[in-house]
Amino acid sequence: MAEQVVRDVDVRSVCSDFLYDGSCSRMMCPRTHIGKSIFYMDSHCHLDLLTTWDKCGGFQFDKLVLPSNFAGCVTNFAFPRLHYLLHDLLKPEQLMRKKIFSTVGCHPKKFREFNMSVLHEIECLVLKESGVVAIGECGLDFSNHVQSFEVERQKQAFGAQMRLAAGKNVPIVIHCRDAEEITFEMIHQYLDTQHKIHLHCYTGSVSVMNRFISSFKNLKIGLTNIITKHDVSSDVIDIVRNVPLDRLLLETDSPHFVPGNNYGGRLSTMFSHPGQAINVAVKFHQMNNLKLKTVLNISTSNCKYMYDL
Ligand SMILES: [Zn+2]
Ligand SMILES: [Zn+2]
Repeated sequence: MAEQVVRDVDVRSVCSDFLYDGSCSRMMCPRTHIGKSIFYMDSHCHLDLLTTWDKCGGFQFDKLVLPSNFAGCVTNFAFPRLHYLLHDLLKPEQLMRKKIFSTVGCHPKKFREFNMSVLHEIECLVLKESGVVAIGECGLDFSNHVQSFEVERQKQAFGAQMRLAAGKNVPIVIHCRDAEEITFEMIHQYLDTQHKIHLHCYTGSVSVMNRFISSFKNLKIGLTNIITKHDVSSDVIDIVRNVPLDRLLLETDSPHFVPGNNYGGRLSTMFSHPGQAINVAVKFHQMNNLKLKTVLNISTSNCKYMYDL
């Protein structure tokens, strides 16, 4: 069979029907298609929030028409009170059809919900056979004013989840906001330098990112549609320009971060969906002068490696 030729393209000329629908129904479409054999994944989203938040208007993943080159997503169950949804959303037929994998943990902002029975629940739920492939997202978030007791409680919950990930030898998803230095120190304390770590939605400095990357061989950096915003900060631009491609994970953190660019089938201005991980790839390709095909291929294999898919 002839190999599908995929040319590098100026994304302004890429058919947006392709990017969303995986194929173009127009017989004489004047625009470039990148090819159906190029797959992409959303390495981090929240289907539990998408289906329960009022602003998402009764979103149903089943009803979402995803592009044929959408290779799957990793949904994080990080709110303990919503862990029960894991069984509803991850029915075997869903897993097969939509390629949904999941993680389970306790978000730093939900430290009040964390206790030993939640930790035990996480331990029981992490089972590769049922598509639960990692622990998290967990971590530290000092972005709003946090009192010292909150810092301590967040650190306790984070430490306990890292200890569990180390003991079970499963990947961990880390949320780190305005707490890069202390997160770096804690990871060093709890995990070995080979552990698989998804540092998700990274918005810290390039210098600390480089320390994470050089210290942890299997740490990858997640970028979201924050990078597609028109008012993106120069710090974030610096990150996009400095993430090595072999460390890149595309993520939507859906329902957060509605894309600022127009690919991926906008359903709403109120929330994003997993199909819009393509928007991150498009922006990364534009800013780094890389082939879109290369960004999609390598970030997909990074995601498969991270979660052993
Ligand atoms: Zn997060
Ligand atoms: Zn998240």
